Amino acid sequence: MPPAAAKPLYIRMNAADNVAIVANSGGLRPGTEFDCGLRLVEQIPQGHKVALADIAEDEIIRRYGEIIGHAAAPIVRGSWVKESLVRMPDAPGFDNLPKPNGEGLRQPPLEGYSFEGYRNADGSVGTRNILAISTSVQCVAGTVDFALTRIRKELLPKYPSVDDVVAVTHAYGCGVAINAPGAAVPIRTLQNLARNPNFGGEVMIVGLGCEKLQPELLLPEGMIADDDIMRMQDENLTGFGEIVDDIVRMADERLQVLNRRRRETCPASALVVGMQCGGSDAFSGVTANPALGFAADLLVRAGATVMFSEVTEVRDAIHLLTPRAINQEVADALVREMDWYDRYLAGGEADRSANTTPGNKKGGLSNIVEKAMGSVIKSGTSPIAGVLAPGERVRDKGLIFAATPASDFVCGTLQLASGMTVHVFTTGRGTPYGLAAAPVIKVSTRSDLKQRWHDLIDVDAGSIATGDATIEDVGWEIFRLILDVASGRETWAEHWNLTNSLALFNPGPVT
Ligand code: CA
Repeated sequence: MPPAAAKPLYIRMNAADNVAIVANSGGLRPGTEFDCGLRLVEQIPQGHKVALADIAEDEIIRRYGEIIGHAAAPIVRGSWVKESLVRMPDAPGFDNLPKPNGEGLRQPPLEGYSFEGYRNADGSVGTRNILAISTSVQCVAGTVDFALTRIRKELLPKYPSVDDVVAVTHAYGCGVAINAPGAAVPIRTLQNLARNPNFGGEVMIVGLGCEKLQPELLLPEGMIADDDIMRMQDENLTGFGEIVDDIVRMADERLQVLNRRRRETCPASALVVGMQCGGSDAFSGVTANPALGFAADLLVRAGATVMFSEVTEVRDAIHLLTPRAINQEVADALVREMDWYDRYLAGGEADRSANTTPGNKKGGLSNIVEKAMGSVIKSGTSPIAGVLAPGERVRDKGLIFAATPASDFVCGTLQLASGMTVHVFTTGRGTPYGLAAAPVIKVSTRSDLKQRWHDLIDVDAGSIATGDATIEDVGWEIFRLILDVASGRETWAEHWNLTNSLALFNPGPVT
């Protein structure tokens, strides 16, 4: 129980804001008076907004110094600014966006940080040593899972340096318009997933034989040999037993190679960190995401690659991102990806407002604009050095916008395809999320979540809200933990072996 006399506390993000959020666990009662003299006229739950001034109907509601909406009715000072009182503004247009202006500050390099990673022949560095069995079509998924059980039981104990064997199974590969423009996304995602640095360059693909996505299409030309592929319909294979034996044999050859991998000291610049949030609340943008943004800046200063994603959660902050692009080409690429996504959503008769969940709203987030302002903070302050279309492999160091849907599983899958080797996930409402192919560090926005889920959450950023830690403190904690986890330290999700399925993003038609 918190002390009965816990001091009432609200958090205002910007001096221009006319709303703030209630920080106290359990919320605050009517009549509560803050040090500044503000008096609550009604009960306000934790994380929800209080009006710091009278707000007239149609007047701007400002948080993070940005317009998160307009008042749908007059709002009295000290009252609860509920979702129904916040009318959502239109998304910023793409014309007249601010030009790159060097706003992303180039900070001094951060030297001397390293981790113990697995160097690969292509120059990439893995954080785990995993055999991936790629598949070209859903038809083979059950068979691959059957073989996987045997591989884990019969082979894995013989190769102690290998962490795991994972099946890259999915619902794609046949019954799809393989030549439609949208098909490029799932196909390059599967190609690039097989090349994730945690898989050590050892490729094997299991296909059926008659599928539209022929297995040889799964890797770029020259990167695949015929003996990397097995097709279940191969006429040389008789019966299910021989088919499974063949998969097990292929896995055995590759496990022998992977078992020779050893961790070596690698500079922090070899890291590829993917960031996302899920189950956000009003504290996401106050505690966990700013701390992760601070860690992202440290990583960029150390020369690493850091990706932020989730188009619908940055769409409303596009005007804050284009000035941070390193050049006009990168600014244009940001707009290209957001514009593509606007049209993708419009095709489904939806828009970005479809993003916010009931949990987001219960957590105090009125709309996607407010969610976006809190989400984009995790990109820190570094210049934006590059933009990736969904599933593209990362090419540059520094802060990268990797365009993905905000869906946790789809975002994680696409970031893995881009080459992510450590994932950092901030959560307010809580999620047990984990991935088989890369470690996931989970950061809670509130301390009571960490207390309840002490064996699921890796870092508590809630102490920032109560003033017990600073954004910098937690940012450094996340940065150091990333290096430890990259070196082999287990996350809670790994401890429990929690893995969510990969989920391909397929904007193309299914036939
Ligand atoms: Ca997400």
